[in-house]
Amino acid sequence: MVSTIPHHIEGKDVPADDGRYLDNVNPWTQEVTATLARGSVADVNAAVEAARRAFDEGPWPRWSEAERSAALHRLADLVNANADVLAAAEAGDMGRPVQSARSIDIPRAADMFRFFGDHAALATGETYPSGADHDAYVAYRPAGVVAAITPWNHPLMLGAWKIAAPLAWGNTVVMKPAESSPTSAYLLAGLAIEAGIPRGVLNVVQGLGSEAGQALTDSAGVDRITFTGSTATGRRVAQAAAGNLVPVTLELGGKGSSIIAPDADIELAADLVSRAVFNNTGQVCLAGTRVLVHEDIRDEFTSRLVARAGAWSIGDPFADGTTLGPLASAEQHRRVRSYYDRVEAEGGAVLCGGPGEGNVFAPTVVSGIDPKGTVAQEEVFGPVATIIGYEGDDQAVTLANDTAYGLTSVLITDSVARIRRMVPRLRSGTVWVNCYQVRDLRAPMGGRGASGIGREGGTFSREFFTEPQAVFIA
Ligand code: NDP
Repeated sequence: MVSTIPHHIEGKDVPADDGRYLDNVNPWTQEVTATLARGSVADVNAAVEAARRAFDEGPWPRWSEAERSAALHRLADLVNANADVLAAAEAGDMGRPVQSARSIDIPRAADMFRFFGDHAALATGETYPSGADHDAYVAYRPAGVVAAITPWNHPLMLGAWKIAAPLAWGNTVVMKPAESSPTSAYLLAGLAIEAGIPRGVLNVVQGLGSEAGQALTDSAGVDRITFTGSTATGRRVAQAAAGNLVPVTLELGGKGSSIIAPDADIELAADLVSRAVFNNTGQVCLAGTRVLVHEDIRDEFTSRLVARAGAWSIGDPFADGTTLGPLASAEQHRRVRSYYDRVEAEGGAVLCGGPGEGNVFAPTVVSGIDPKGTVAQEEVFGPVATIIGYEGDDQAVTLANDTAYGLTSVLITDSVARIRRMVPRLRSGTVWVNCYQVRDLRAPMGGRGASGIGREGGTFSREFFTEPQAVFIA
């Protein structure tokens, strides 16, 4: 049965203004399961105006931080209570295995609402002692209407990450999910109403990036843009933001390295790299796909990684026991396939994995690839590990930094001296040492170079989503 996903504007389901709809395709069955509103400039304007009214006239920015935090906690409770339906939305839209969405993405999304609610409610501010004549302090005023544009790879988790902080700080939001993963954002907007978040505070416009997304970033009614997506789109978003002089954060692509030092625990290294490259079928910006392995341990590490690659259970995202779903769309499959087809020409050998039926792509290990070639340099966004040998720490750092991106690095070593020497030289927003994908919502998240501009998380989010005001009282 094909259902329809409308926009959510001012607390109501709203059809596409011009009556146009897009197909939502299940990447496993490749069947159309729903249609979604194809947002137009008129739809975007209606959502921005609703958010503006809710900001200028509604109660949300005037509630205390504690009241907003309580509402965000109620939303978190509802997210967890509806985990099954939200997990099914992710599985049906982009192929995330239900059990992974249920155990990881959904509870993490709920945690983000709790964390940012508490963070705003418990934050302290600066005062400046200025003699007997004046009191001086900083107040963090909400910035206004926030445009939040999200990708399809972890729709709800990354959606919550984009909107929890601005909501906690008293802003109103217009969210534009990726056109291939519309369902969980729509469900979330309904849950926000159920949680008692006033109408117009969280609006969702569906549709194409080139239409609805572009109209939203072009809108003169928006005060902040928070974007997660590809580097190419990020450049367009930055240009649109420049037109209206709107502050923007860009969380863009990555091409992370996993460095395996000669003293590394090889078992741990194989486990971490398998997760860092293959989880979510490699569709993770934080993936550590450039696997730099010291020549002394290269053969042993490679055979253990190949064994782990084969241990993932690929299948129907709705089936019990599936640990990897298909790639999220036929377009995504074509893209990953095009890199796979270049492996040999770029000097590499495929040791395992590759394309399967439909949108399936099995965990792939490639050895001997040219570190300057496209497969080792560009974001594949699929389950492809490229193993590159090195002989000394300096060479490892040079290879790790030899990409346009700068989002994450993984370093696996037992040597404290090596950690202290190498970490400061790694050009990336996050470094994980002997671990992978550990997150702390207080920590800055973001990247350098082609991985983006700005940081979010904890006080970094407060700086971005508020207008700090200096107040002097005689
Ligand atoms: P895209 O850049 O294609 O899309 C991201 C979002 O932007 C989608 O909602 C898209 O809509 C929208 N969009 C597209 N064109 C425009 C436009 N002209 N103006 C405004 N919005 C637009 O990225 P993907 O969805 O393909 O996501 C994968 C990318 O996201 C990867 O590069 C990945 O590394 C990155 N990413 C980065 C993360 C980080 O924290 N650094 C985390 C997760 C992913 P539509 O889909 O409808 O076209």
